[in-house]
Amino acid sequence: MEQQTLAIHAGYDKTFGYGSMSVPIEQTTAYAFRDADHAANLFSLKELGPIYSRLTNPTLDVLEKRYVALEKGASAIAVASGQSAIFYAIANLAEAGDNVLMSNKLYGGSVTLLAHTMKRFGLSVKVFDCENADNLETLIDDKTKAIFFESLSNPQIAVSDVEKIVAIAKKHGVITVCDNTVATAALFNPITWGVDVVVHSASKYTDGQGRAIGGIVVEREGLNEFFASNPRYTHFSLPDESYHGLVYTSLPLPCFCLRIRLALLRDIGACMSPFNAWLLINGLETLSLRVERHSKNALEVAKFLESCPNVKGVNYPALESHKGYAKAKKYFKDGYASGLLSFDVGSFEEAKSIINSVKLFSVVVNIGDSKSLITHPASTTHSQIPADELIKSGINPATIRLSIGLEDPKDLIEDLKKAFN
Ligand SMILES: *Cc1c(COP(=O)(O)O)cnc(C)c1O
Repeated sequence: MEQQTLAIHAGYDKTFGYGSMSVPIEQTTAYAFRDADHAANLFSLKELGPIYSRLTNPTLDVLEKRYVALEKGASAIAVASGQSAIFYAIANLAEAGDNVLMSNKLYGGSVTLLAHTMKRFGLSVKVFDCENADNLETLIDDKTKAIFFESLSNPQIAVSDVEKIVAIAKKHGVITVCDNTVATAALFNPITWGVDVVVHSASKYTDGQGRAIGGIVVEREGLNEFFASNPRYTHFSLPDESYHGLVYTSLPLPCFCLRIRLALLRDIGACMSPFNAWLLINGLETLSLRVERHSKNALEVAKFLESCPNVKGVNYPALESHKGYAKAKKYFKDGYASGLLSFDVGSFEEAKSIINSVKLFSVVVNIGDSKSLITHPASTTHSQIPADELIKSGINPATIRLSIGLEDPKDLIEDLKKAFN
């Protein structure tokens, strides 16, 4: 079936229960077992079913199945936030003494998570150039457990060379983890280009109206076979002491998300609330319609900015002047490039003054809302990152990032014009 049909129907059986057309919110902590044997069977995975909402929940189950369909994967797990999705994906692969290869163009929270917080857990990171992957292969060693990058990066709006990253990863048997938050499942499906694991911050375009925090991890088909024969990741193919000797790769279920659920979600517990899952399911129904409009509006605003004398550079991959233009055209549906764009003005001070002058744009550190948003990364999202790392990750102190919403672009352009004067 086509993407827009799946976005509306996948994962939900309306003949179940009362036949509610809206997916029911199963707002419960726990589930009654029929008897002691039923309980024992659920715990030993002889029978599958809900036990406790930290691990599984029927509303989340619909969101997970819908994401599997949209991202063309084998299994998915919904978690508390994009940050926790990234944490779980990486913690599922790497432990103390291992290293992760991290793109040079990433969300600020991913940089602090990997290079600072997880470093204190004994993990090290090495940085590669995501736009050409020239130095990627030289960084891989026996302890490399993941290659992490964003298909379309926030806030640098860089387009990764997905095919080259995937080819190098496959040659060395290393798992690729792609954060597809900005491109969204509507424009790009990393799994169809060979990526192993996709993560999303569902708080952005999935929700689409800035109402709920959530995250999702999706794995491709075939990871059980991959892990069963790969000496880099023995924790999937050796008995898990913490789960009475379970061997994940020997189960008839996709092992990557299963291990996150049974081991990491069990122990760390950053789970999604059923209410948020319901909001996100509703968000997905209109995802591709919205992303198309966000992209069209953003292109109009980007063209206007390109014509402004105060603007030193406009960064939007659907503009022919952008260095990622060819990749965006190749990878993203109809060459659309999301609602995210950035531009540089003359100075840090000038950037702040524009932020202080706009009326229609809200000064918000979020993206993917139906309302247009404006941020100054250097003084907000990326202010915890030291200046030298900031420049390395492509953030100029005079950069302004816009998340173009669903308003009429004429009004947005008018608002920016006034702020420039
Ligand atoms: C927002 C964002 C995250 C973090 O997601 P939360 O849901 O806010 O935890 C991760 N990656 C990217 C690209 C993001 O934009």
